[in-house]
Amino acid sequence: MPELNQVSWQQLDASHHLHPFTDSRALQQKGARVIERGEGVYLWDSQGQRILDGMAGLWCVNLGYGRQELIEAAHQQLQQLPYYNLFFQTTHPPAARLAATLAGILPGNMQHVFFTGSGSECNDTVVRMVRHFWAQQGQPKRQVIISRKNAYHGSTLAGASLGGMKPMHAQGGLPLPDMVHIDQPYYFAEGQGMTPHEFGLERAGQLEQKILELGPERIAAFIGEPIQGAGGVIIPPASYWPEIQRICKKYDILLVVDEVICGFGRTGHWFASEYYGLEPDLLCMAKGITSGYIPLGAVAVGERVAHTLIAGGEFFHGYTYSGHPVACAVAQANIEVMQQEHIIERVHDDIGPYLQQRWASLASHPLVGETRGLGLVAALELVADKATQARYSESAGAGMICREHSLEMGLVMRAVGDTMIISPPLVITHQQVDELIDKARQTLDLTLSTLNNRQGK
Ligand code: PMP
Repeated sequence: MPELNQVSWQQLDASHHLHPFTDSRALQQKGARVIERGEGVYLWDSQGQRILDGMAGLWCVNLGYGRQELIEAAHQQLQQLPYYNLFFQTTHPPAARLAATLAGILPGNMQHVFFTGSGSECNDTVVRMVRHFWAQQGQPKRQVIISRKNAYHGSTLAGASLGGMKPMHAQGGLPLPDMVHIDQPYYFAEGQGMTPHEFGLERAGQLEQKILELGPERIAAFIGEPIQGAGGVIIPPASYWPEIQRICKKYDILLVVDEVICGFGRTGHWFASEYYGLEPDLLCMAKGITSGYIPLGAVAVGERVAHTLIAGGEFFHGYTYSGHPVACAVAQANIEVMQQEHIIERVHDDIGPYLQQRWASLASHPLVGETRGLGLVAALELVADKATQARYSESAGAGMICREHSLEMGLVMRAVGDTMIISPPLVITHQQVDELIDKARQTLDLTLSTLNNRQGK
Protein backbone atom coordinates (compact mmCIF):
# COMPACT_ATOMS: atom_id res chain seq x y z
CA MET A 1 0.00 0.00 0.00
CA PRO A 2 1.48 3.40 -0.90
CA GLU A 3 2.03 6.04 1.80
CA LEU A 4 -1.27 7.74 2.56
CA ASN A 5 -1.91 11.25 3.77
CA GLN A 6 -3.27 12.01 7.20
CA VAL A 7 -6.95 12.06 6.25
CA SER A 8 -6.69 8.73 4.46
CA TRP A 9 -5.05 7.08 7.47
CA GLN A 10 -7.80 8.46 9.65
CA GLN A 11 -10.50 7.15 7.31
CA LEU A 12 -8.91 3.74 7.03
CA ASP A 13 -8.56 3.61 10.79
CA ALA A 14 -12.13 4.73 11.45
CA SER A 15 -13.48 2.14 9.01
CA HIS A 16 -11.69 -0.92 10.33
CA HIS A 17 -9.89 -0.40 13.61
CA LEU A 18 -11.42 -0.71 17.09
CA HIS A 19 -9.07 1.07 19.52
CA PRO A 20 -8.29 0.06 23.11
CA PHE A 21 -9.95 2.11 25.89
CA THR A 22 -11.70 4.33 23.33
CA ASP A 23 -15.17 5.71 22.65
CA SER A 24 -15.21 4.68 18.99
CA ARG A 25 -18.03 6.98 17.90
CA ALA A 26 -16.32 10.03 19.38
CA LEU A 27 -13.04 9.06 17.76
CA GLN A 28 -14.63 8.54 14.36
CA GLN A 29 -16.08 12.03 14.52
CA LYS A 30 -12.81 13.61 15.53
CA GLY A 31 -10.28 11.51 13.61
CA ALA A 32 -7.32 9.82 15.28
CA ARG A 33 -4.01 11.61 15.69
CA VAL A 34 -1.59 9.77 13.41
CA ILE A 35 1.86 9.29 14.95
CA GLU A 36 4.42 8.53 12.29
CA ARG A 37 7.88 8.67 13.80
CA GLY A 38 9.84 8.86 17.04
CA GLU A 39 13.36 9.95 17.94
CA GLY A 40 14.71 10.32 21.47
CA VAL A 41 11.94 11.86 23.59
CA TYR A 42 10.05 13.26 20.58
CA LEU A 43 7.25 12.04 18.34
CA TRP A 44 6.15 13.45 14.99
CA ASP A 45 2.55 13.28 13.82
CA SER A 46 1.30 13.23 10.23
CA GLN A 47 0.91 17.01 10.25
CA GLY A 48 4.58 17.35 11.00
CA GLN A 49 4.05 18.53 14.58
CA ARG A 50 6.86 17.62 16.95
CA ILE A 51 5.56 16.40 20.31
CA LEU A 52 7.55 15.87 23.51
CA ASP A 53 6.38 12.48 24.76
CA GLY A 54 5.87 13.20 28.44
CA MET A 55 4.39 9.72 28.93
CA ALA A 56 7.11 7.59 27.24
CA GLY A 57 4.36 5.97 25.17
CA LEU A 58 2.32 4.16 27.81
CA TRP A 59 4.97 4.50 30.57
CA CYS A 60 7.30 2.21 28.69
CA VAL A 61 9.73 3.82 26.20
CA ASN A 62 12.30 4.29 28.95
CA LEU A 63 15.33 4.57 26.68
CA GLY A 64 13.50 6.80 24.19
CA TYR A 65 12.75 6.17 20.54
CA GLY A 66 15.23 5.00 17.92
CA ARG A 67 17.88 3.26 20.07
CA GLN A 68 20.12 1.39 17.65
CA GLU A 69 21.27 -1.10 20.32
CA LEU A 70 17.70 -2.38 20.75
CA ILE A 71 16.96 -2.38 17.03
CA GLU A 72 20.17 -4.25 16.32
CA ALA A 73 19.47 -6.84 19.05
CA ALA A 74 16.06 -7.56 17.50
CA HIS A 75 17.52 -7.73 14.02
CA GLN A 76 20.27 -10.16 15.00
CA GLN A 77 17.90 -12.40 16.96
CA LEU A 78 15.37 -12.43 14.10
CA GLN A 79 18.11 -13.77 11.87
CA GLN A 80 19.47 -16.27 14.38
CA LEU A 81 16.19 -17.72 15.71
CA PRO A 82 13.02 -15.67 15.27
CA TYR A 83 10.90 -18.00 17.35
CA TYR A 84 11.00 -21.08 19.43
CA ASN A 85 8.92 -22.11 22.43
CA LEU A 86 10.00 -22.96 25.96
CA PHE A 87 7.57 -25.82 26.48
CA PHE A 88 8.54 -29.52 26.29
CA GLN A 89 11.84 -29.33 28.15
CA THR A 90 13.39 -26.80 25.77
CA THR A 91 15.13 -23.47 26.25
CA HIS A 92 17.06 -21.00 24.09
CA PRO A 93 19.96 -18.66 24.88
CA PRO A 94 18.02 -15.35 24.95
CA ALA A 95 15.53 -16.63 27.58
CA ALA A 96 18.15 -18.35 29.75
CA ARG A 97 20.45 -15.32 29.60
CA LEU A 98 17.70 -12.82 30.39
CA ALA A 99 16.37 -14.88 33.31
CA ALA A 100 19.88 -14.84 34.83
CA THR A 101 20.29 -11.12 34.14
CA LEU A 102 16.96 -10.35 35.83
CA ALA A 103 17.93 -12.48 38.85
CA GLY A 104 20.96 -10.20 39.17
CA ILE A 105 18.93 -6.98 39.41
CA LEU A 106 15.80 -8.19 41.26
CA PRO A 107 15.29 -7.25 44.91
CA GLY A 108 15.72 -9.60 47.86
CA ASN A 109 15.88 -13.30 47.27
CA MET A 110 14.19 -13.46 43.88
CA GLN A 111 16.12 -15.87 41.69
CA HIS A 112 13.49 -17.15 39.25
CA VAL A 113 11.26 -15.63 36.57
CA PHE A 114 8.27 -16.83 34.55
CA PHE A 115 7.97 -15.06 31.18
CA THR A 116 4.74 -13.67 29.77
CA GLY A 117 3.82 -11.39 26.89
CA SER A 118 2.41 -8.43 28.86
CA GLY A 119 1.54 -6.96 32.23
CA SER A 120 -1.97 -8.38 32.09
CA GLU A 121 -0.60 -11.84 31.44
CA CYS A 122 1.69 -11.40 34.43
CA ASN A 123 -1.29 -10.83 36.67
CA ASP A 124 -3.20 -13.80 35.25
CA THR A 125 -0.08 -15.82 35.96
CA VAL A 126 0.02 -14.47 39.52
CA VAL A 127 -3.54 -15.62 40.24
CA ARG A 128 -2.86 -19.12 39.02
CA MET A 129 0.54 -19.28 40.68
CA VAL A 130 -0.50 -18.18 44.17
CA ARG A 131 -3.48 -20.53 44.21
CA HIS A 132 -1.34 -23.40 42.97
CA PHE A 133 1.25 -22.52 45.61
CA TRP A 134 -1.25 -22.72 48.45
CA ALA A 135 -2.74 -25.93 47.11
CA GLN A 136 0.77 -27.42 47.10
CA GLN A 137 1.17 -26.23 50.67
CA GLY A 138 -1.94 -28.18 51.65
CA GLN A 139 -4.04 -25.03 52.06
CA PRO A 140 -6.31 -25.09 48.99
CA LYS A 141 -8.86 -22.85 50.69
CA ARG A 142 -6.48 -19.91 50.32
CA GLN A 143 -8.09 -18.49 47.17
CA VAL A 144 -8.84 -14.86 47.97
CA ILE A 145 -6.63 -12.10 46.59
CA ILE A 146 -6.97 -8.67 48.14
CA SER A 147 -6.33 -5.62 45.97
CA ARG A 148 -7.24 -1.93 46.06
CA LYS A 149 -9.97 0.24 44.57
CA ASN A 150 -8.63 2.31 41.66
CA ALA A 151 -5.72 -0.10 41.14
CA TYR A 152 -4.78 -1.05 37.58
CA HIS A 153 -3.56 -4.56 36.88
CA GLY A 154 -4.49 -5.03 33.22
CA SER A 155 -7.40 -5.81 30.94
CA THR A 156 -7.69 -9.60 30.90
CA LEU A 157 -10.37 -11.15 33.12
CA ALA A 158 -7.99 -11.66 36.02
CA GLY A 159 -6.14 -8.37 35.45
CA ALA A 160 -9.34 -6.32 35.29
CA SER A 161 -10.76 -8.17 38.32
CA LEU A 162 -7.65 -7.57 40.41
CA GLY A 163 -7.76 -3.97 39.26
CA GLY A 164 -10.19 -1.72 41.03
CA MET A 165 -11.56 0.30 38.12
CA LYS A 166 -15.33 0.51 38.49
CA PRO A 167 -16.08 1.21 34.80
CA MET A 168 -14.10 -1.90 33.85
CA HIS A 169 -15.94 -4.05 36.40
CA ALA A 170 -19.26 -2.75 35.08
CA GLN A 171 -18.56 -4.17 31.63
CA GLY A 172 -18.80 -7.94 31.73
CA GLY A 173 -19.71 -8.84 35.29
CA LEU A 174 -16.38 -8.44 37.03
CA PRO A 175 -14.63 -8.92 39.36
CA LEU A 176 -14.24 -12.69 39.27
CA PRO A 177 -14.99 -14.45 42.58
CA ASP A 178 -12.52 -14.22 45.44
CA MET A 179 -10.96 -10.94 44.32
CA VAL A 180 -11.79 -8.20 46.80
CA HIS A 181 -10.77 -4.55 47.13
CA ILE A 182 -9.87 -2.26 50.00
CA ASP A 183 -9.52 1.55 49.84
CA GLN A 184 -6.51 3.13 48.15
CA PRO A 185 -3.85 5.30 49.86
CA TYR A 186 -4.78 8.46 47.91
CA TYR A 187 -4.11 11.20 50.43
CA PHE A 188 -5.01 14.25 48.32
CA ALA A 189 -8.47 12.93 47.45
CA GLU A 190 -9.38 10.89 50.51
CA GLY A 191 -7.14 11.86 53.40
CA GLN A 192 -9.06 14.83 54.81
CA GLY A 193 -8.87 15.23 58.55
CA MET A 194 -5.81 12.99 58.96
CA THR A 195 -2.07 13.46 58.75
CA PRO A 196 -0.43 11.53 55.89
CA HIS A 197 1.08 9.20 58.50
CA GLU A 198 -2.28 8.41 60.08
CA PHE A 199 -3.91 8.03 56.70
CA GLY A 200 -1.25 5.57 55.49
CA LEU A 201 -1.77 3.44 58.60
CA GLU A 202 -5.56 3.62 58.27
CA ARG A 203 -5.51 2.47 54.65
CA ALA A 204 -2.99 -0.32 55.33
CA GLY A 205 -5.04 -1.29 58.39
CA GLN A 206 -7.95 -2.05 56.08
CA LEU A 207 -5.94 -5.03 54.86
CA GLU A 208 -5.91 -6.51 58.35
CA GLN A 209 -9.63 -5.82 58.77
CA LYS A 210 -10.40 -7.55 55.47
CA ILE A 211 -8.24 -10.54 56.38
CA LEU A 212 -10.04 -10.91 59.71
CA GLU A 213 -13.46 -10.38 58.12
CA LEU A 214 -12.93 -13.12 55.50
CA GLY A 215 -10.77 -15.40 57.64
CA PRO A 216 -6.97 -15.60 57.32
CA GLU A 217 -7.24 -19.25 56.25
CA ARG A 218 -8.95 -18.08 53.01
CA ILE A 219 -6.49 -15.35 51.98
CA ALA A 220 -3.87 -16.20 49.37
CA ALA A 221 -2.25 -12.86 48.61
CA PHE A 222 -2.31 -9.08 48.61
CA ILE A 223 -1.43 -7.29 45.36
CA GLY A 224 -0.54 -3.64 44.84
CA GLU A 225 1.34 -1.24 42.60
CA PRO A 226 4.07 0.44 44.72
CA ILE A 227 2.87 3.70 43.15
CA GLN A 228 -0.52 3.47 41.44
CA GLY A 229 0.09 4.58 37.86
CA ALA A 230 -3.07 4.56 35.76
CA GLY A 231 -5.07 5.50 38.88
CA GLY A 232 -3.30 8.87 38.87
CA VAL A 233 0.30 8.49 40.09
CA ILE A 234 -0.76 7.92 43.67
CA ILE A 235 2.24 7.88 45.97
CA PRO A 236 1.30 6.39 49.33
CA PRO A 237 2.34 8.01 52.60
CA ALA A 238 5.60 6.59 54.01
CA SER A 239 3.70 4.69 56.71
CA TYR A 240 1.71 2.62 54.19
CA TRP A 241 3.98 -0.05 52.71
CA PRO A 242 5.82 -1.07 55.90
CA GLU A 243 2.45 -1.68 57.53
CA ILE A 244 1.20 -3.71 54.54
CA GLN A 245 4.39 -5.79 54.68
CA ARG A 246 3.95 -6.32 58.43
CA ILE A 247 0.35 -7.48 58.03
CA CYS A 248 1.21 -9.87 55.19
CA LYS A 249 3.94 -11.44 57.33
CA LYS A 250 1.70 -11.65 60.40
CA TYR A 251 -0.98 -13.66 58.57
CA ASP A 252 1.42 -15.46 56.24
CA ILE A 253 -0.16 -13.85 53.16
CA LEU A 254 1.86 -13.64 49.93
CA LEU A 255 2.82 -10.12 48.91
CA VAL A 256 2.61 -9.44 45.17
CA VAL A 257 3.92 -6.14 43.83
CA ASP A 258 2.92 -5.04 40.37
CA GLU A 259 5.95 -3.12 39.09
CA VAL A 260 4.79 -2.98 35.47
CA ILE A 261 5.16 0.82 35.61
CA CYS A 262 7.54 1.28 38.56
CA GLY A 263 10.15 -1.24 37.40
CA PHE A 264 13.25 -0.54 35.30
CA GLY A 265 14.33 2.76 36.73
CA ARG A 266 11.15 4.82 36.83
CA THR A 267 11.64 5.67 40.53
CA GLY A 268 15.43 5.84 40.46
CA HIS A 269 15.83 2.19 41.44
CA TRP A 270 15.65 -0.95 39.36
CA PHE A 271 12.41 -1.64 41.22
CA ALA A 272 10.32 0.51 43.56
CA SER A 273 10.33 -2.39 46.03
CA GLU A 274 13.88 -1.30 46.87
CA TYR A 275 12.74 2.26 47.52
CA TYR A 276 9.98 1.06 49.85
CA GLY A 277 12.09 -1.70 51.44
CA LEU A 278 9.62 -4.38 50.33
CA GLU A 279 10.30 -8.10 50.21
CA PRO A 280 7.71 -9.31 47.74
CA ASP A 281 6.96 -12.98 47.10
CA LEU A 282 6.02 -12.24 43.49
CA LEU A 283 6.85 -9.21 41.35
CA CYS A 284 5.28 -8.35 37.97
CA MET A 285 7.21 -6.50 35.28
CA ALA A 286 6.58 -5.56 31.64
CA LYS A 287 6.70 -2.25 29.70
CA GLY A 288 10.18 -0.86 30.55
CA ILE A 289 11.74 -4.35 30.42
CA THR A 290 12.14 -3.80 26.65
CA SER A 291 11.56 -0.03 26.69
CA GLY A 292 8.30 -1.01 24.98
CA TYR A 293 10.07 -1.88 21.70
CA ILE A 294 8.55 -5.33 21.70
CA PRO A 295 6.03 -7.00 24.03
CA LEU A 296 7.40 -8.89 27.03
CA GLY A 297 6.44 -9.43 30.65
CA ALA A 298 7.84 -11.49 33.50
CA VAL A 299 6.76 -12.58 36.96
CA ALA A 300 9.67 -12.76 39.36
CA VAL A 301 9.24 -15.50 41.92
CA GLY A 302 10.77 -15.41 45.40
CA GLU A 303 12.52 -18.48 46.71
CA ARG A 304 9.68 -19.69 48.93
CA VAL A 305 7.16 -19.86 46.08
CA ALA A 306 9.76 -21.00 43.55
CA HIS A 307 10.80 -23.89 45.77
CA THR A 308 7.22 -25.11 46.08
CA LEU A 309 6.53 -24.63 42.37
CA ILE A 310 9.65 -26.54 41.38
CA ALA A 311 8.78 -29.40 43.71
CA GLY A 312 5.09 -29.36 42.77
CA GLY A 313 5.03 -31.25 39.48
CA GLU A 314 3.79 -29.71 36.23
CA PHE A 315 2.34 -26.20 36.44
CA PHE A 316 -0.28 -26.19 33.69
CA HIS A 317 0.29 -22.61 32.56
CA GLY A 318 2.19 -20.82 29.80
CA TYR A 319 1.91 -18.76 26.66
CA THR A 320 3.07 -19.36 23.10
CA TYR A 321 5.10 -16.19 23.44
CA SER A 322 6.42 -16.82 26.98
CA GLY A 323 10.06 -15.79 26.67
CA HIS A 324 9.89 -14.95 22.96
CA PRO A 325 13.53 -14.96 21.82
CA VAL A 326 13.38 -11.60 20.03
CA ALA A 327 11.71 -9.94 23.03
CA CYS A 328 14.27 -11.47 25.40
CA ALA A 329 17.16 -10.29 23.21
CA VAL A 330 15.77 -6.75 23.19
CA ALA A 331 15.25 -6.82 26.97
CA GLN A 332 18.84 -7.98 27.44
CA ALA A 333 20.15 -5.14 25.28
CA ASN A 334 17.86 -2.70 27.09
CA ILE A 335 19.23 -3.69 30.50
CA GLU A 336 22.82 -3.57 29.25
CA VAL A 337 22.35 -0.04 27.91
CA MET A 338 20.80 0.99 31.22
CA GLN A 339 23.83 -0.41 33.04
CA GLN A 340 26.40 1.08 30.66
CA GLU A 341 24.80 4.52 30.77
CA HIS A 342 24.12 4.40 34.53
CA ILE A 343 20.48 5.25 33.89
CA ILE A 344 19.33 4.23 37.38
CA GLU A 345 21.93 6.43 39.08
CA ARG A 346 21.09 9.26 36.71
CA VAL A 347 17.37 9.11 37.57
CA HIS A 348 18.15 8.77 41.28
CA ASP A 349 20.79 11.48 41.62
CA ASP A 350 20.40 13.86 38.73
CA ILE A 351 17.52 14.03 36.28
CA GLY A 352 14.90 12.69 38.73
CA PRO A 353 15.55 15.36 41.40
CA TYR A 354 15.83 18.00 38.66
CA LEU A 355 12.44 17.09 37.17
CA GLN A 356 10.84 16.97 40.63
CA GLN A 357 12.24 20.37 41.59
CA ARG A 358 11.02 21.93 38.34
CA TRP A 359 7.64 20.14 38.49
CA ALA A 360 7.11 21.39 42.06
CA SER A 361 7.38 24.96 40.74
CA LEU A 362 4.03 24.41 38.99
CA ALA A 363 2.39 24.26 42.43
CA SER A 364 2.24 28.06 42.43
CA HIS A 365 -0.11 28.08 39.45
CA PRO A 366 -3.67 29.15 40.35
CA LEU A 367 -5.09 25.94 38.85
CA VAL A 368 -2.86 23.56 40.80
CA GLY A 369 -3.86 22.10 44.19
CA GLU A 370 -0.90 19.76 44.61
CA THR A 371 2.17 18.48 42.80
CA ARG A 372 3.83 15.18 43.67
CA GLY A 373 6.30 12.77 42.17
CA LEU A 374 9.26 10.45 42.54
CA GLY A 375 12.10 9.77 40.13
CA LEU A 376 10.70 10.41 36.67
CA VAL A 377 7.00 10.06 37.38
CA ALA A 378 4.86 12.95 38.58
CA ALA A 379 1.33 14.27 38.93
CA LEU A 380 -0.52 17.50 39.61
CA GLU A 381 -4.08 18.07 40.73
CA LEU A 382 -6.24 20.63 38.95
CA VAL A 383 -8.49 22.51 41.36
CA ALA A 384 -11.20 25.16 41.01
CA ASP A 385 -10.31 26.79 44.31
CA LYS A 386 -6.72 26.76 45.49
CA ALA A 387 -7.62 27.76 49.06
CA THR A 388 -10.11 24.96 49.70
CA GLN A 389 -8.64 22.59 47.08
CA ALA A 390 -12.18 22.06 45.74
CA ARG A 391 -12.21 20.37 42.37
CA TYR A 392 -14.11 21.42 39.26
CA SER A 393 -17.41 19.64 38.63
CA GLU A 394 -17.01 16.52 36.52
CA SER A 395 -19.00 18.11 33.69
CA ALA A 396 -16.42 20.92 33.39
CA GLY A 397 -13.96 18.32 32.05
CA ALA A 398 -10.91 20.23 33.30
CA GLY A 399 -8.54 17.28 32.84
CA MET A 400 -9.60 16.65 29.24
CA ILE A 401 -9.33 20.35 28.39
CA CYS A 402 -5.85 20.39 29.86
CA ARG A 403 -4.85 17.29 27.91
CA GLU A 404 -6.03 18.83 24.63
CA HIS A 405 -4.17 22.09 25.29
CA SER A 406 -1.07 20.11 26.18
CA LEU A 407 -1.12 18.36 22.80
CA GLU A 408 -1.61 21.70 21.05
CA MET A 409 1.51 22.88 22.88
CA GLY A 410 3.40 19.82 21.64
CA LEU A 411 3.51 17.89 24.92
CA VAL A 412 1.91 14.58 25.84
CA MET A 413 0.49 14.76 29.35
CA ARG A 414 -2.17 12.29 30.41
CA ALA A 415 -5.37 13.15 32.27
CA VAL A 416 -6.83 10.84 34.92
CA GLY A 417 -9.97 12.74 35.84
CA ASP A 418 -8.52 16.11 36.89
CA THR A 419 -5.10 14.69 37.72
CA MET A 420 -2.45 15.44 35.09
CA ILE A 421 0.39 12.95 34.96
CA ILE A 422 3.77 12.56 33.30
CA SER A 423 6.26 9.72 33.00
CA PRO A 424 8.84 10.79 30.42
CA PRO A 425 11.62 8.65 28.92
CA LEU A 426 14.47 8.15 31.42
CA VAL A 427 16.93 9.61 28.91
CA ILE A 428 15.28 13.05 28.97
CA THR A 429 17.87 15.85 29.25
CA HIS A 430 17.82 18.89 31.54
CA GLN A 431 17.01 21.10 28.60
CA GLN A 432 14.12 18.85 27.61
CA VAL A 433 12.84 18.91 31.20
CA ASP A 434 12.86 22.72 30.96
CA GLU A 435 10.91 22.48 27.73
CA LEU A 436 8.42 20.09 29.35
CA ILE A 437 7.88 22.43 32.31
CA ASP A 438 7.49 25.51 30.08
CA LYS A 439 4.93 23.70 27.96
CA ALA A 440 3.11 22.39 31.03
CA ARG A 441 2.91 25.92 32.48
CA GLN A 442 1.60 27.38 29.24
CA THR A 443 -0.88 24.49 29.08
CA LEU A 444 -2.14 25.36 32.56
CA ASP A 445 -2.56 29.02 31.52
CA LEU A 446 -4.58 28.01 28.46
CA THR A 447 -6.65 25.57 30.50
CA LEU A 448 -7.47 28.21 33.08
CA SER A 449 -8.59 30.70 30.45
CA THR A 450 -10.71 28.06 28.66
CA LEU A 451 -12.37 27.07 31.95
CA ASN A 452 -12.97 30.74 32.84
CA ASN A 453 -14.42 31.49 29.40
CA ARG A 454 -16.78 28.56 29.65
CA GLN A 455 -17.93 29.67 33.07
CA GLY A 456 -18.47 33.19 31.72
CA LYS A 457 -15.78 34.64 34.01
N1 PMP B 1 -0.12 -3.55 35.72
C1 PMP B 1 0.12 -2.24 35.75
C2 PMP B 1 0.57 -1.60 37.03
C3 PMP B 1 -0.04 -1.46 34.60
O1 PMP B 1 0.19 -0.14 34.64
C4 PMP B 1 -0.42 -2.08 33.41
C5 PMP B 1 -0.57 -1.31 32.11
N2 PMP B 1 -0.73 0.03 32.20
C6 PMP B 1 -0.68 -3.45 33.43
C7 PMP B 1 -0.50 -4.15 34.59
C8 PMP B 1 -1.12 -4.17 32.21
O2 PMP B 1 -0.10 -4.31 31.32
P1 PMP B 1 -0.40 -4.65 29.78
O3 PMP B 1 -1.14 -3.49 29.22
O4 PMP B 1 0.98 -4.85 29.21
O5 PMP B 1 -1.20 -5.90 29.76
